[in-house]
Amino acid sequence: MGQGFMGKVLMVDLSTGKIRDEIVPDKVYEDYLSGMGLGAYMLYKHIPPDADPLGPENMLGFVSGLLTGTGSLFTGRWMVVGKSPLTHGWGDSNCGGNFSPAIKRCGYDGIFFTGKAEKPVYLNIVDGKATLEDASDLWGKDTVETEQMLISRATGKAKPRVACIGPAGEKLSLISGVSNDGGRMAARSGLGAVMGSKNLKALCLSGNVKTPVANKARMKELSAACNKWVQFQPPFLPGTATFPVGALLRILPTGMAQDGMLYKVMLKKWGTVSMNQVSIEMGDSPIKNWKGTNLDFGPLKSFSVNPDVFTKAETKKYFCFSCPLGCGGICKLNKGPFSHTHKPEYETVLALGGLLLNEDADSIFYLNELLNRAGMDTISAGGTVAFAIECYEKGIISAKDTGGLALTWGNSEAIIELVEKMIRREGIGDILADGAKSAAQLLKGGSENFAVTGGGHELPMHDSRNDPGFGVHYKAEPSPGKHTIGSYLYYEMFQLWKVLKGLPKPWLFYPKGVKYKTGRDKAVMSKTCSTYMNVVNGSGGCMFGAFLGAKRIPFFDWINAATGWNKTPEQYMEIGERIQTIRQAFNLRQGIKPKEVELHDRAVGRPPLCRGANKGRSVDIETLVANYWEEFGWDRATGNPTPATLSKLGIEQP
Ligand code: SF4
Repeated sequence: MGQGFMGKVLMVDLSTGKIRDEIVPDKVYEDYLSGMGLGAYMLYKHIPPDADPLGPENMLGFVSGLLTGTGSLFTGRWMVVGKSPLTHGWGDSNCGGNFSPAIKRCGYDGIFFTGKAEKPVYLNIVDGKATLEDASDLWGKDTVETEQMLISRATGKAKPRVACIGPAGEKLSLISGVSNDGGRMAARSGLGAVMGSKNLKALCLSGNVKTPVANKARMKELSAACNKWVQFQPPFLPGTATFPVGALLRILPTGMAQDGMLYKVMLKKWGTVSMNQVSIEMGDSPIKNWKGTNLDFGPLKSFSVNPDVFTKAETKKYFCFSCPLGCGGICKLNKGPFSHTHKPEYETVLALGGLLLNEDADSIFYLNELLNRAGMDTISAGGTVAFAIECYEKGIISAKDTGGLALTWGNSEAIIELVEKMIRREGIGDILADGAKSAAQLLKGGSENFAVTGGGHELPMHDSRNDPGFGVHYKAEPSPGKHTIGSYLYYEMFQLWKVLKGLPKPWLFYPKGVKYKTGRDKAVMSKTCSTYMNVVNGSGGCMFGAFLGAKRIPFFDWINAATGWNKTPEQYMEIGERIQTIRQAFNLRQGIKPKEVELHDRAVGRPPLCRGANKGRSVDIETLVANYWEEFGWDRATGNPTPATLSKLGIEQP
């Protein structure tokens, strides 16, 4: 067996209760790494065409990363993968915490479930022995309670690590996810519902197996050099100063290529909420269901979510496994039934704040904990509530439908009650619990115009009218509607031109109009982001780490040190292409026609906004996407990988 990985996965058939080890050939790791790549390889092999995402034939995988537990940094992230019931294509969701090393400490790179248990169960692995246990008493419990109950039952030597669903996943909400570490969510793609459909409440893992590392001395040397960059932290401005930074970025006639070191400084001080006011002001954050602007949520309102509001409530920093930065935090709550919550992330604050014109920070703290405990995606929940408010505004739903709730913009009490109804699937909440697109299909009456999604996935809090690079991935990724893959900003921060030949280097200052051109350089940037993030996700890497730049955060060198391989960055990027292409082939096999995946008109400025930071901006998304597909060696008209590309990458025809 090779080094850096465990060389096997656990296969669990929930219908028969049969559990077995499956050896994974070394060549699979050389071709796909682990994490996202291993998941893609397994799902493509095992899920039949046109599978029902909530049926027993869907396979649900929990994968660690190739670099997790090897002494590298920023590499403790795990992923859940399966066919998404929300988009009906490839689904993945990425999460930090401590579950990724727990998978490897049990001796596996991944755990894959098929079938459906007759009654609620959880998978328990203790010191190498895997069993399915009765979860009847856990069913109905929230994610935090479930985790605490399972930890209290621990019998192994090592502290167990738990991944579980809450009531939202049990009730098959299509916007539900999987939680670990007291409410840190792998929230996207609706995979909590897949877990619920299988009657699988949780995984509880306890083991002590070490990950073999080929060159420990080199690993140590690389990680020490990386850590120096992370620990560098100049004195910094107060959170209130982030508003003028955003305003300046909006007013300046030129864009400026970003070095991720600046973002790192902000992340280390505040976490992702550091971007709240900057993003609103510069037009990065969508407002009022994507039809408003920074002027609708101006400084007087957005001040309520300035970064200091969140750090003031922070009682301690939170670090994922192997992270030297610690962008997370635990916050004390002064109001409501919960005493603590994970510090809300930027995405959560803006999805439940600016997107709804909600300036009540207490409500955002509460909703964050409520949704994490229910196991429901905060981005999708915010997007769906925004959809509902606009339906109410247009008279498509009335107070009679909402059970008397006055669903108006910024009405935090009504927003809270609506989210509670969604979690309980009660009244209008039952319709909304499956996301905006599904709700629009039921409500009709023109409501589909207000479901702002990419391929059925509620869009995240980065406006593609401000950075069209986001739009390409929202529409054209195998898992559409996600912000964790690429944009022109991410390309600047990854700085891959420093380690790979032939990539365009952005100018330090450039006219803002350049971002809206559709030349080949844009396709190269988008493809490079997708490809690189597949390598990062195959490694268990954190995107925020990757933002520090490929020279400072040496994923390629770390993989060589862990495995003993001697691959070049170009060879790793070819692996990233393979992972991307097999995910696209997976979608074709599941009946997705990439060209028909929709991105909401508002996300591309059709029609353009009449005021605010993104005034007059529209995006030629069709040309950008066609160029992007072509850059991958896929058909530019259909998005189907060509036979020549599949053959070059060694992927079976879909
Ligand atoms: S930077 Fe934040 S999200 Fe990334 S590994 Fe560290 S704590 Fe986790």
